[in-house]
Amino acid sequence: MSLVVAKFGGTSVADYEAMHRCAKIIMDNPQTRVVVVSASSGVTNLLVELTQATINDERRLSLLKQIAQVQYTILDALGRPQQLCATIDALLSRISQLSEALVLDRSKQIMDELLSLGEQCSSQMFAAVLRELGEQATSFDVRQVMRTDSHFGKAEPQVDEISALAQTHLAPLLAEQRIVTQGFMGADEAGATTTLGRGGSDYSAALLAEALNADSVEIWTDVAGIYTTDPRLAPNATPIPEISFNEAAEMATFGAKVLHPATILPAVRQKIQVFVGSSKAPEQGGTWIRHQIEQAPVYRAVAVRRDQTLLNLHSLQMLHAQGFLAETFATLAKHKISVDLITTSEVNVAITLDKTGSDSSGHGLLSEALMQELSQHCRVRVEDKLALVAIIGNRIATTPGVCRRVFEVLETHNVRMICQGASPHNLCVLVSESEAAQVVHALHQNLFEG
Ligand code: ADP
Ligand code: ASP
Ligand code: MG
Repeated sequence: MSLVVAKFGGTSVADYEAMHRCAKIIMDNPQTRVVVVSASSGVTNLLVELTQATINDERRLSLLKQIAQVQYTILDALGRPQQLCATIDALLSRISQLSEALVLDRSKQIMDELLSLGEQCSSQMFAAVLRELGEQATSFDVRQVMRTDSHFGKAEPQVDEISALAQTHLAPLLAEQRIVTQGFMGADEAGATTTLGRGGSDYSAALLAEALNADSVEIWTDVAGIYTTDPRLAPNATPIPEISFNEAAEMATFGAKVLHPATILPAVRQKIQVFVGSSKAPEQGGTWIRHQIEQAPVYRAVAVRRDQTLLNLHSLQMLHAQGFLAETFATLAKHKISVDLITTSEVNVAITLDKTGSDSSGHGLLSEALMQELSQHCRVRVEDKLALVAIIGNRIATTPGVCRRVFEVLETHNVRMICQGASPHNLCVLVSESEAAQVVHALHQNLFEG
């Protein structure tokens, strides 16, 4: 029998009514055996705030209260079943305990366990909603199968181990029931809880689909598919019915929040098709991401990624010398920084760093140790409050006239950096964050609304 893994994001499991709508989507398809859920909308943000060193006791208690309130509103709608209430109470106490522990020990391991508790709560309740509707459904602790390394805050999934563990512990359960499990979290070899980085539930769903040889992954969210740009930025954005793996991967990488950037990797490896749709309006259909698609237009979408940092490295060593870039990249790699875009001149290298590379608790990328190490072999200047706007499409680098159309829109804006040519699928410009929305809107108008 073919298998579908369905993931429901924060707004889709925000409250009882939203969970009820998602349960109907699941029940409409007998092939949906694995359900991956995010924390209810807003809960991870509250947990992240609990990890901050700056909060006082009063704020801590207020955050705990807000988190409990989200859970209790759902429990109320479910009629407060005793066993479920006890389970949720235990999880809420754990949140409180861990937030207290962080006051003394700001350990990333504790933070990860704390951050994972939103998903632990929502998965228990979602399974209960399915059971209330007469389905055989059990909540499953994803830590049994989602093996990662121990890089707390942004753990790396261990694909082969996940496959072996899922085949042993998860696959045999699917014949009898639907399994509801947690996105975003996993466990390292020692069993310590880890997280995959913000927005990581999409990635979890794709990894489980790969491990279970699923036929498709469904990402149910609050928009009816992938649009030509974020519909919040351009009201005339339209949904894209079908898109290739390459284009979708570029969109996710360049900030289309609708998909976590790593989601496409497992799907590509196993050629698993991905569907993106709205859990509020499933009848509207959505976007299919596939290996083979019928149309590959030059302009597909505009994406924006905020909160970008530009590192400008200056060194006379670079002049007619070898090895400077190798040395710089080795230092960045050592500090687990992935370089995003790069431009070079005779004695300067400009590199952008991406916040999606930062960890679940939102800690910055540029540690003091890294800055010191870089400063040993070059002068470093850091600029922030920048946004990267990407035009995504096909044959961008080989189609005459693309630059003209893009630059006529940018005429009145200061472009800090341009990257084009490495990929046939994108052209990127770095602009001030304050101008980003305007740039996206104007580009969308010029490329898609004319
Ligand atoms: P979830 O909680 O379901 O994972 P997210 O908030 O992470 O949902 O992602 C959905 C949001 O992504 C949408 O509400 C939309 O504002 C944003 N988004 C950004 N770019 C796009 C795009 N190109 N198409 C659709 N949505 C986009
Ligand atoms: N709950 C996590 C977050 O808000 C993961 C996710 O929703 O994908 O980042
Ligand atoms: Mg998301």
